[in-house]
Amino acid sequence: MNGQIAEVRNYVGGKWCAPTGEQATEVWDPATGEVIAKVRFSSRSDIDTALEAASAALPGWRRTPANDRAQWLYKLKGLLEQRTEDLARCITEEHGKVLSEARGEVRRAIDNVEMACGTPANLQGRFAEDIACGVDEMLIRQPVGVCLAIAPFNFPIMIPCWFLPYAVACGNPFVLKASERTPRTAELLFELLDALDFPPGVVSLVHGGVATSELLIDHPDVRAVSFVGSTPAARSVYARAAAAGKRVQAQGGAKNSLVILPDASIDAVATIAAESAFGNAGQRCLAGGSMIAVGSAGDPFAEAISRLARSRTLGNGMVDGVELGPVITADSVQRVENLIDQGGSDGADVLVDGRGVSVQGHEKGFFVGATVLDHVAPESTLAETEVFGPVLGIMRAVDLDEALSLINSGRYGNMACLFTTSGRSARQFRYEAEVGNVGVNVGVAQPMSSFPFSGWGDSFFGDLHAHGHHAVEFFTQTKVVVERWP
Ligand code: NAD
Repeated sequence: MNGQIAEVRNYVGGKWCAPTGEQATEVWDPATGEVIAKVRFSSRSDIDTALEAASAALPGWRRTPANDRAQWLYKLKGLLEQRTEDLARCITEEHGKVLSEARGEVRRAIDNVEMACGTPANLQGRFAEDIACGVDEMLIRQPVGVCLAIAPFNFPIMIPCWFLPYAVACGNPFVLKASERTPRTAELLFELLDALDFPPGVVSLVHGGVATSELLIDHPDVRAVSFVGSTPAARSVYARAAAAGKRVQAQGGAKNSLVILPDASIDAVATIAAESAFGNAGQRCLAGGSMIAVGSAGDPFAEAISRLARSRTLGNGMVDGVELGPVITADSVQRVENLIDQGGSDGADVLVDGRGVSVQGHEKGFFVGATVLDHVAPESTLAETEVFGPVLGIMRAVDLDEALSLINSGRYGNMACLFTTSGRSARQFRYEAEVGNVGVNVGVAQPMSSFPFSGWGDSFFGDLHAHGHHAVEFFTQTKVVVERWP
């Protein structure tokens, strides 16, 4: 480790401080393979200090009028807009996605801040007069307490903003445990929050890994836990937080299917499917990892998508014209290549092979080229595993019923999309697909911030999802008051 590599900082009680744990890890620029930062994990005493500051902030923040709290968010929106380019470059540097994708991510973060600015209206309760003679009843919403979010690497600013603005708008102090693989974007977000002068302890950032998350989840002052990451981690966080009697929402991994019917326009769908499968280097929970081609759509679709995969420009996401950046780590390259190997040995045809690629001038970068496999068997490892890399597996089905039963037999339930010109087929799909986010003639059915992000199955553990009207439900607790004034 080079002595000049900076360690990322925690932000606790309105001040920057160094984490003091013994364990540490490196952060790479995945396009160059160079180490660009170091993350020292937070110790138990760092966590205690952070939670003490957050708890101390609760009484004052809760009493701050909701409209006043929203003013910080309006200012945050302005700062995020002013600093979009810096944030996007920071994301590209530590995550690898191409700059246009990083700018899009910042825009999605801002959407959530805008949505949270409207929280004061959504905090209203209910009132009923004369539930008995001279007796009235009301429901009011109060903050739930200190809220924790644990974030994944793949959307380092958008996902923290699925939670932070809503939690604070509802009157809660908020603690973020950023991903240890993309911590610098979180640090930059907190530099903006620091400039806004929130009361100390209202927003905090702590760095670390699994053990840090567990210390935070177990801490008695944490009342609500929002998690986004892989399914095994989501399941574990859900069980741990729920066993301690905490409110929890845990979004997990996915294996999303796209379905093309023979009546759809093959070339148009191939373009959309390429974006869904290879955009963000396939590192998104809404990536279309499988295409189920129905009837005669199969061969022409396989040909069209292979053409697009071969022509996708691979390289450093900072460079103009690059369409496909690297994956997050060298281990990820290995994992994705192993899954392609496995697909081939399970009988699929590797039509376009992204294994073993190298980008000139970036020979140490973590690259996998766009990959297409055809005739993937439904019960194979590739069909059932989240690849999290730029890989599309094509399966064949005789009709929409068979395509739906392939989707519904999967363990995940994050997203499924149909491409068709038939309203009847679209309605059947919307009605019968057992997933929480459905797309019709779109390849990434990402809910806007005004709707909840509705994963099902092994893609979600909990009840209330991220953003939309679920956010206010999650970040407040209801109190019912029955009143008589004799
Ligand atoms: P990950 O599960 O490795 O880590 C996510 C976060 O959880 C990190 O901050 C990590 O330190 C922490 N963590 C890991 N294991 C933990 C455990 N057992 N207990 C507590 N904390 C733990 O995920 P990742 O590789 O950073 O992100 C990719 C995964 O996230 C993919 O599976 C992707 O589908 C999923 N994801 C899901 C959504 C969604 O909305 N459903 C959105 C984005 C990403």
